[in-house]
Amino acid sequence: MNCSHCGRLLNESIYKDDMKSCPRCSQANGQFHVFHPFPSDFGTTPLRASNTHPEGPQSHCQSCRGGNPPRIGTLCKDL
Ligand SMILES: [Zn+2]
Ligand SMILES: [Zn+2]
Repeated sequence: MNCSHCGRLLNESIYKDDMKSCPRCSQANGQFHVFHPFPSDFGTTPLRASNTHPEGPQSHCQSCRGGNPPRIGTLCKDL
């Protein structure tokens, strides 16, 4: 499924300023990417460090990783 605003896949991680989209929250929304503050709401791990993202971002927000229901965040169209 693609975002109605930016057209990219909802399960892609999109970075924008100090926000990042959560694939699970976005797919739960079903229409737009759902963004949360990054890195505070995601956390980082050296295991995920790469050239493009040396800080090693977790792909899903902490709430999703903790097995909680997807959260309402800032929608792609509102950023
Ligand atoms: Zn989007
Ligand atoms: Zn999430």
